[in-house]
Amino acid sequence: MQKIDHGLIFSYTLEKYENYDQMKILKKRGREFMDNRGFWETEDAKATGAGLKEYDTIDCMMKIDSHMKKFDMVDTAFNKRILNSVGIIPLPPEHIFNRNELEDSKCDVENESPAITQLDYALEEGAGAVEGATTSSRSTSGDSGLVIQLENGELFSMSLYRQNDPSGNELTSKVSERKYEFDSKKTASYAVKKAAKLYGADLVGIAPFEERWLYNTEVYFPRDFYTGKPFFDLANPFRPVDLGFQPKSVIVLAYEMDYEAYKTQSSAIVAAATTMGYTSMVENSFRVGTFLRKLGYHAHHAGNDTGLSVPLAIQAGLGESSRMGLLITEEFGPRVRLAKVYTDLELEFDKPKSFGVKEFCQACKKCARVCPAGAISKVTKTTDEENKPCNSSNAIGVDKWYNDGVKCLHFWGENGMECAACIVACSYNKAVSKVEKQTKSSNVSG
Ligand code: SF4
Ligand code: SF4
Repeated sequence: MQKIDHGLIFSYTLEKYENYDQMKILKKRGREFMDNRGFWETEDAKATGAGLKEYDTIDCMMKIDSHMKKFDMVDTAFNKRILNSVGIIPLPPEHIFNRNELEDSKCDVENESPAITQLDYALEEGAGAVEGATTSSRSTSGDSGLVIQLENGELFSMSLYRQNDPSGNELTSKVSERKYEFDSKKTASYAVKKAAKLYGADLVGIAPFEERWLYNTEVYFPRDFYTGKPFFDLANPFRPVDLGFQPKSVIVLAYEMDYEAYKTQSSAIVAAATTMGYTSMVENSFRVGTFLRKLGYHAHHAGNDTGLSVPLAIQAGLGESSRMGLLITEEFGPRVRLAKVYTDLELEFDKPKSFGVKEFCQACKKCARVCPAGAISKVTKTTDEENKPCNSSNAIGVDKWYNDGVKCLHFWGENGMECAACIVACSYNKAVSKVEKQTKSSNVSG
């Protein structure tokens, strides 16, 4: 067997990993599923023959229960884990996902496991450096995280997801008193999309604001910057979602996660690409929010907090829902992260579009086959009787496949690192060259 070089980050091409003997080394970490890994078969997806179809609203595209209950942010599998880490929600030990033990000296340099060496972990840490230093917590928790208590007792969040500054010193959170008037909603949308793309978004779409996609309550657990001491009521770390203004539009932003890096799944290199996505979310949405505030409009920028992103992205015409539950975009498949900016600026809305994902997913099932946790539904149609919610982490009332996020995270915990097998296996992945991306960036239609 060919000896594996360390430092694959500098040459993480598919060829390195198409060799199954190399990949099997990863079994040392119990990741037998690597044998089962699907490769990128974009041609499959092209074979659907489904053309692009436009709808007026998401309700014309997917069946949505008119009595649908708003989802609680605490019910996401990730937030259950975060609240477990501060002693609020008890979870069994196998759900605890602590990657620290794999880092630095304990990473697998000696075992020659590709893509999980100290070099690869350093790549991931570098990717997370900006987000870690400026956000204090992943975007699952919005402006929670590390805070400083001001003299007047109010809390100033260190997170770039913060929405205001009680001290009144911060320019970025102030709404300009002078309002810029656009001559039409169309012009306003053009300007916002241009700005978002200039700031680094790969895709931008605009949806009308709808209360039903906001979380019912959000998780709020700020901790003191200096001492780490909680600044919240341990018994009740939840608060109602309050944007502080009445939004009219939601700007939905998507960021591609690196194609070549994702081919190395599961690895610290995938985690680096994912983390870059998280960094783009906070940096880009913060900039778009600041741009709107400086135009004299209210804006609330958010990552995975505040409300559900996938239905907003569908309504904004960025893609379709899929078997694995992620948004599938025409441009990058499921390999995107999402952020959104709620604003009271009136904008021209995009229309939801279908390009045959639902029909293709009925036959494909590749993500379900490769999932090592058995977390992805294998039932053919969303209307099949066996397609039932798995647990409270499923938002219900929407016509979709129900997947088990708790099982997925459980696997991550057991495995000691993130998994992206479903994303990598998906037939809708495609490589987009830098030139193509730049061309797309100049297209402000989203
Ligand atoms: S990320 Fe989760 S759902 Fe996707 S393949 Fe891995 S365990 Fe399954
Ligand atoms: S989401 Fe799953 S079923 Fe749908 S195309 Fe991708 S791999 Fe296939």
